[in-house]
Amino acid sequence: MIRFDLTTDQIPTAWYNALPDLAEPLQPPLHPGTREPIGPDDLTPLFPMGLIAQEMSTDAWIDIPGEVLDILRLWRPTPLVRATRLEKYLGTPARIYFKDESVSPAGSHKPNTAVPQAFYNKAEGMTRLTTETGAGQWGTALSFACRQFDMECKVYMVRSSYEQKPYRKIIMETWGSEVVPSPVDDPSSPGSLGLAISDAVRDAAGRDDSHYSLGSVLNHVLLHQTVIGLEAREQLALAGETRPDVVIASCGGGSNLGGIALPFMTDPEVRLVAVEPASCPTLTEGRFEYDFGDSVGMTPLMPMYTLGHDFMPPTIHAGGLRYHGDSPIISNLVQTGRMEAMAYQQGKTFEAAVTFANTEGKIPAPETGHAIRAAIDEALACKETGEEKVILFNYSGHGLLDLAAYDDYLHDRLIDA
Ligand SMILES: *Cc1c(COP(=O)(O)O)cnc(C)c1O
Repeated sequence: MIRFDLTTDQIPTAWYNALPDLAEPLQPPLHPGTREPIGPDDLTPLFPMGLIAQEMSTDAWIDIPGEVLDILRLWRPTPLVRATRLEKYLGTPARIYFKDESVSPAGSHKPNTAVPQAFYNKAEGMTRLTTETGAGQWGTALSFACRQFDMECKVYMVRSSYEQKPYRKIIMETWGSEVVPSPVDDPSSPGSLGLAISDAVRDAAGRDDSHYSLGSVLNHVLLHQTVIGLEAREQLALAGETRPDVVIASCGGGSNLGGIALPFMTDPEVRLVAVEPASCPTLTEGRFEYDFGDSVGMTPLMPMYTLGHDFMPPTIHAGGLRYHGDSPIISNLVQTGRMEAMAYQQGKTFEAAVTFANTEGKIPAPETGHAIRAAIDEALACKETGEEKVILFNYSGHGLLDLAAYDDYLHDRLIDA
């Protein structure tokens, strides 16, 4: 057996909320003007109460609304696959499992939160959402979700991606969204995620029919992603495993990592590992302090590892990992020592991605290549020690719209940042 599937009625019906189980409570977000802790009312111009309540909830479990489950069932539960061909190629005694989030309509884990975010906004009368997108993964996911709930969606896309990566823009437009390059007021700037967040927040704050939607970082986003780890736990049991020894995921804002890792957080036997690019080393080289979520300084200040809100990361192919900050929950776990963090240069991650493609067949997203690199290195360490570790990693998305990056790697044009 290499593939462990759950039936559609085994989809989780509640999200796991990590907040009450954190060893150290999160410090509160602060108002950008007064620097005082913010309350729910400060967030209502941008978010619906349903999501604000989840952002601050101390309930251990939060029920998933039926209308959300009906849409998640289009692709969930996702497969858990044992990568036996990769194991054999590496000659490792480790058992490597990956959770395949690439099977969603948008091709990544991101619709897991896009769908509930659209649902709660619609339920509170919003007819339009605004957001930012880097390489286009999040914009694609939110476009899909808005279409499901008959809402308008406006996406501010980082200009360099808008110009160089047309295919995700076409998917967003196919799903009915309006896509514009960001920053809107400076056509000479290549843009950044932080600048695009500023554009999208400004738009939503100025209109009564619109809210803003963020694809990562926030507590409610990680909450929605816990379906990944909850399913994986059941599937590992089907595979006869008691627990994973190590859980690995790429980390941009922390949502796919939180999604797969948080359900294992209270088991001290399970190591949790974040993998980030060496060119945007938020967890491994950033400072833990309060910083803005955007570049201009309009969002609340959050306690997190950050490279500074004006940090301009170099353009690497893993666009989804180019964010100056990180999720407060993930930052908390790293700071308290519950989670490890590591960074790789992109050449090493593409090498791993190509190894994966040549053994397991699937072509991963450049972001996912970071998790694969760490999983392979963990498996190679087991080869040295002879340990039969159980390695679980999140296959956060496919790379079929990132082929120009593979072209660069295969033809020695990749800059090894
Ligand atoms: C967006 C994205 C990531 C990084 O975002 P997180 O919020 O850290 O999960 C990783 N992999 C893929 C495929 C993505 O689209």
